[in-house]
Amino acid sequence: MSETVIQRETIAAIATAIVPQQGSIGIVRLSGQNALSIARSLFDAPGQQKWQSHRILYGFIRHPQTQQTIDEALLLLMLAPRSYTREDVVEFHCHGGIIPVQQVLQLCLEQGAKLAQPGEFTIRAFLNGRIDLTQAESIAELVGARSPQASQIAVAGLQGKLAQPIRQLRHTCLDILAEIEARIDFEEDLPPLDENVISQGLEAILRQVEAILSTADQGELLRTGLKVAIVGRPNVGKSSLLNAWSRSDRAIVTDLPGTTRDVVESQLVVGGIPVQVLDTAGIRDTMDQVEKIGVERSRVAAHQADLILLTIDAQVGWTIEETEIYQPIAHLPVILVINKIDLGTPDFSLFPAQIKEIVKTSAAQNQGIDGLEKAILASVHQGNLKAANLDLAINQRQAAALTRAKIALQQVQETINNQLPLDFWTIDLRSAIQALGEITGEEITESVLERIFSRFCIGK
Ligand code: GDP
Repeated sequence: MSETVIQRETIAAIATAIVPQQGSIGIVRLSGQNALSIARSLFDAPGQQKWQSHRILYGFIRHPQTQQTIDEALLLLMLAPRSYTREDVVEFHCHGGIIPVQQVLQLCLEQGAKLAQPGEFTIRAFLNGRIDLTQAESIAELVGARSPQASQIAVAGLQGKLAQPIRQLRHTCLDILAEIEARIDFEEDLPPLDENVISQGLEAILRQVEAILSTADQGELLRTGLKVAIVGRPNVGKSSLLNAWSRSDRAIVTDLPGTTRDVVESQLVVGGIPVQVLDTAGIRDTMDQVEKIGVERSRVAAHQADLILLTIDAQVGWTIEETEIYQPIAHLPVILVINKIDLGTPDFSLFPAQIKEIVKTSAAQNQGIDGLEKAILASVHQGNLKAANLDLAINQRQAAALTRAKIALQQVQETINNQLPLDFWTIDLRSAIQALGEITGEEITESVLERIFSRFCIGK
């Protein structure tokens, strides 16, 4: 994989987000054999500026036939192999907004570039040996990170913190395989195999595999986050609670447009975990059936969530309506939030015995948000989560491959214990080596590549 694979086609794409009227700079990126010649045909750099690698040129992007000026821009030239793809790369740094970048992209395509597929720049970086697969995945994760912690593990992955131990484990497996195979091929010439040494070696590998596997849950949480639904009768203070929570210092709030008219969604970060809050508080029906509808909507929101904050009014306490809301969600993870605690104390004996997690808040006085976040994190960590090791947290694909490696290694151990012939040992050991190689991309199939890179955005 270390040889640069020359791709015949030069690709082009807009590399920055396209948001109308936003962003002061928009970048169009070219990569491939013709990147430089295409750039030269479009870019007019006045004066004595030199077209040198890793230099920035100032000038004008002009239509090659009409000479019409499309934009005043900067051009960054990165010649192979010192570029993202290890091919010749040119970036046009245009003015932001949709029109200039799209016109420049169009000109690149007219000059013979092909529109890049999602992740195609990164695929080339991988195929040309600049990055391994875990690094490629980290790039996508960094771009999509929704919390500082998620971005931290993506950066760690980008630096090879996951690839390194996996590669090491695979090499140790290869060494063991070589030992065994030597005994198969040259049985007479070599001292007999020390089964204990092999077993201990495998045991050590297995322990490391398990340690890395144990980061999967944390990784999953940091990447995909948690869905929390705030449910409860009208007027218990659901929207006030969400407001107080959103205003709290620790919360990084992004307003997402509600996906349905009935549920308002907000994005918060709690303990590094991106939390999507589904709030049914926006419901203000004037119909007679208001209570009933509230119950139904709460039920729907609750079933979409990983965790439910059943909110009640401290002054009113637990009523028949709460029972109605609670019954259909009693089997789900619920935290009972007693809001308006500034107004009174409810009768605790009326609460269902199953509810173990209880938090008191006063949304109006910004009180209890700390406790609420602690309870949420506690309920998440009960799901067998290990302490966050933010150097490393594998994703689902990596976890699946690592699980295959683990099972294969356990089978090798069993084969040894059952005194089966050496040929049998090598079969499972090879499977483990294959699975480990799939994580870094040392062994890879086209379908795996397709699955990974289809999740990328265009221009990356
Ligand atoms: P929702 O229908 O459940 O979303 O309830 P709201 O958030 O709209 O709150 C209903 C009313 O209760 C509003 O007048 C709020 O100002 C008030 N309220 C909300 N939380 C508290 C609280 O903690 N203490 C007090 N005293 N009033 C609150």
